[in-house]
Formats: sequence, structure tokens, C-alpha cells
Amino acid sequence: AKARGRDRSERFDEEMRAEAIRLLDLEADLRRAIQRDAFEPYFQPIVRLADGVVVGHEALLRWRHDQHGWLPPSEFLRVCEDSGLIEQVDWLLYRRVVEWMGRHPDGYVSINVSPRHFHAEDFADRLLDMAGEAGVDPRRLRIEITEGALLDDAPRAARILGTLRENGVAALLDDFGTGFSALSYLHRFPIQALKIDQSFIAGLAGDTQTESLALVRAILALAVTLGIETIGEGVETEQQRRLLADLGCTYGQGYLFGRPARPADDQRRRVRPPAL
Ligand code: C2E
Ligand code: CA
Ligand code: CA
Ligand code: CA
Repeated sequence: AKARGRDRSERFDEEMRAEAIRLLDLEADLRRAIQRDAFEPYFQPIVRLADGVVVGHEALLRWRHDQHGWLPPSEFLRVCEDSGLIEQVDWLLYRRVVEWMGRHPDGYVSINVSPRHFHAEDFADRLLDMAGEAGVDPRRLRIEITEGALLDDAPRAARILGTLRENGVAALLDDFGTGFSALSYLHRFPIQALKIDQSFIAGLAGDTQTESLALVRAILALAVTLGIETIGEGVETEQQRRLLADLGCTYGQGYLFGRPARPADDQRRRVRPPAL
């Protein structure tokens, strides 16, 4: 048993070493990718549940990697966050997003904002400047934040959101229901919409049905009372769409309506990549 224990710990050491090397490689790769501006937004439609009309899009980060092709955030976001590179990556991406918006004058686009951005007092000004340079009306921009972003320095977060709101940029709470979900956030910060996390939508069928249904109901009741818009995430089936709509959720996003995809005008110029 003793020998086997040692084997196990040796194997563990090896795995740790391999993982450390992999992460180092990834960070070096990321730095090169930043130099080359190798990040692009995929866009996924957000629709009105009642009639399927597209009201906007969420911009989702993709990395065009030399060897591995298109990588989704699950492959590299942790390293981005841990290394602090996420801010540079996001700014490169936001630039692409507002440029695309300049060419496509319909609907809004929501961007994902890492909690780290809320450490920078000038985040709002920078974003507004960028939109201005691209000739984009800031009222077409929305930011998606998680509750964690508001926790760190609440007064600063409130100032940043306040500046954005004054200029027409709405703030959405992403993954709602998974974090601390202190309801006071919805009062204390200017939040215009919340996205019900896809785990609850997925839970609407199967053995967690009763629980998920109760949670979604409670979230929607709260939102209606506070006059906050709601978007259901990860809608994959017609049954989920109908249920959400019946419960009073106004908007939805998910594979049922469209997968994240590269903008059509870029697809014409390049080989079509797979939807991720
Ligand atoms: P998120 O903001 O919650 O984004 C929703 C995720 O659900 C996306 O994954 C999207 O592709 C996926 N999704 C959409 N519809 C469906 C569906 O019907 N079923 C299922 N199973 N999944 C669906 P993605 O693009 O891999 O992004 C993962 C996460 O990475 C995002 O979660 C967000 O937290 C983060 N992220 C994405 N883009 C950015 C970015 O530009 N900056 C930062 N800082 N984070 C980003
Ligand atoms: Ca999001
Ligand atoms: Ca989400
Ligand atoms: Ca998420």
C-alpha cells in the first residue's frame, strides 16, 4: 500500500508539472496573440421570446490560435484572468465590437466585462471614447457584469455604472442566481436587466424541475416588481422558450435562436470556421 501511495504521489507531481508547463505555454501564447490582435468577437442573437424578433447580440470572445484554431473562453479565460492579461484582451475585443457595430447599425450589442475592469476608474470613459471613435451611439452598447464585479469596491463600481448610464450604456447582471445574488444590488446599482443563468433554464426539464421552476418564477417576479428587464440564457428547446415566455420572461438567448457565429461579412472573406 505504501509503494502504491508513492506511485500515486509521483504521478501527481508529474501531472502538476505538466499542468504548470501547459499554463506557462498558454500565457506565452496569449502574450503573442495580444501582439498580433488575434481575438475576435462571435455574435449570438438575443430575441424577444414572444415573436423571435432579434433585438440585439452578445459579443463572445474567441481566440484564433495558430495551431489550435478557434478557441472558446473555457480554454483560456482562467489564465487570462489570473495573469491579468484579460484587460488587454478585452480592450482588443471591444475595439472589434464597436467597429462591427459601426458597419451594422441595428440593435444593441452587449459585451462581457471582467470584474478586473472595475478596478480602473476610467473604464467608462475609455469605453465611451472607443464607441465615439467608431461613430457608435453608446446607447447601443450594453455591458454584462457579474455580481462579483460589484463586491470589491462598491462606491467605485457605482461611479462607473453611473457614468455609463448617464451616457445610455445599460448594465446587465450576468449569470443571475449563481452568485451571492444579494437582492440589494438591484437597488443599489443602476442595473437595467438581468440574465437568468442557463443552469436554471436547463433545469426546467428533468429531476430538478420543481426547484428550477420555483427559482425562475421568483427571479421573474422580483424583476417585474423592480421594473428590470429579463433575458433567459441557454434556451435550447421550444418547450423552454414557451415556459419562459409564459412565466413572464421577455427575452431569450440560446441555440434555439442561433449559435454564436462570426459576422457574415467576415465569413465571405475567409474560410468559414465551425460554430463554437
Ligand atoms: P456567459 O457570458 O454566460 O456566456 C454564455 C455562454 O453560453 C457562451 O459561452 C455561449 O456560447 C454559451 N451558450 C449560448 N447559448 C447556449 C445554449 O443554448 N446552450 C449552451 N449549453 N450554451 C450556450 P462562451 O462563448 O464559451 O463563453 C463562456 C464565458 O466566457 C461567458 O459566459 C463569459 O463569462 C466569458 N466571456 C465570453 N466572452 C468574453 C469576453 O469578451 N470578455 C470576458 N471577460 N469574458 C468573456
Ligand atoms: Ca455574458
Ligand atoms: Ca451568462
Ligand atoms: Ca457564464
